[in-house]
Amino acid sequence: MKTEIDTDFYTETYLGKLGELTLKGGNIKVFENQLLCNIRLALETVDAKARLQSGRLYVHCAKNSCGAVEYALDHLIGITGWAKVQAVEKNIEAIRQAVRREGEAAKENGARTFKIDARREDKSFPLNSYQIAAETAGVLFDDGTLAVDVHKPDVCISIEVREKCYVYCSQKKTCRGLPVGVSGKGLLLLSGGIDSPVAGYRMMRRGMKVECVYFHSYPYTSEEAQQKVQTLAQIISQYGVDTHLNVISFTEVQMRIKQKAPEAYSTLMLRLCMMKAANMLAERINADCIITGESLGQVASQTIENLAVTESFAEKPLLRPLVGLDKEEIMDTANFIGTYETSILPYEDCCVLFSPKHPVLRASVSDSAEIYASMEIDSLVQKAFDERKIFRYSIRDVVGEKWAAKENC
Ligand code: ATP
Ligand code: MG
Repeated sequence: MKTEIDTDFYTETYLGKLGELTLKGGNIKVFENQLLCNIRLALETVDAKARLQSGRLYVHCAKNSCGAVEYALDHLIGITGWAKVQAVEKNIEAIRQAVRREGEAAKENGARTFKIDARREDKSFPLNSYQIAAETAGVLFDDGTLAVDVHKPDVCISIEVREKCYVYCSQKKTCRGLPVGVSGKGLLLLSGGIDSPVAGYRMMRRGMKVECVYFHSYPYTSEEAQQKVQTLAQIISQYGVDTHLNVISFTEVQMRIKQKAPEAYSTLMLRLCMMKAANMLAERINADCIITGESLGQVASQTIENLAVTESFAEKPLLRPLVGLDKEEIMDTANFIGTYETSILPYEDCCVLFSPKHPVLRASVSDSAEIYASMEIDSLVQKAFDERKIFRYSIRDVVGEKWAAKENC
């Protein structure tokens, strides 16, 4: 169905380039529809209309919605980049004028050199790509506005001749990946650390819808620690369209572990209890898998033997997207997605009272299962699960709140 856009009202146009999903074959429509659905949801409270045409995403909006649209595109998984474009008539004079405007704006921002990248999708247009570039570049170099540099230009001015002609400068790079929602649902064990938010984001990039669970031990862990995790859930929900954060109180569980398990095993036993509760939640919300931020060898509970013990308690596939990454790589992504500053706040999500001085490094699956059984802890885990609290976060709400007071761009 063709959507008519009222261009008198929706005066601004954005173009997004589709990423990996263009490699999909017969089921490409599923991927495209999910992408469209995600951006429309993000912009539900905004004067904007999104559509897909010939492998490009277009967002048309009123002038006062530019900030909201740019925020939503910055967080949209499934596109490789976006640009604000001039949509002009398909005649060479109109294109020249648009190129001039882009060039002058680039010069004001400090650019000195440029190149033109022309594409003719509409083959009925009389000039081919090479001719379009040749016919338009002169408007900038003839009067010395910018010099041509085809190898390393400061800016690349793109011209796309489609149902209209789109002219734009320098695309903003985004998250790439597959649209969230095409690869099932995962339950992320989200702590207040650096790793788990990155793990959730990594799975979102593969198209997975991510729901979250956090275990706290108030008053041994602080309210600020929980607040920190709520903030992290909200940040990652901007990429994942929306998410629910389930908060489970493990205070009694932790006390039982302290009473009954050998001290060296206490962290491992806590992980196993988390896994038990995660199994229950995954079943309840129909998640296809469980996700953690574990990375091989990072801490004592993440030796290959101890990872095997944790995995032995998982009833769904256990995904560890960071398993082969080092801390620096994880921190780079945390910085990119904006979780790092929150993750390094000092409020710990585990208490020293419950942390063993000498944790077991190479536990066996059978010994661990035996210790777990001896704690008779399942009913406490069940009770904690039943009493969980649920918070919901969505990009739609953030966009709505941030841009509720209309701004100008
Ligand atoms: P992170 O930086 O994600 O906290 P970490 O390096 O501190 O990870 P651990 O504390 O061993 O490592 O936790 C390993 C993984 O177990 C975490 O990445 C997370 O997925 C999960 N996890 C740990 N603590 C909690 C918690 N309190 N609530 C929910 N999940 C948790
Ligand atoms: Mg941690």
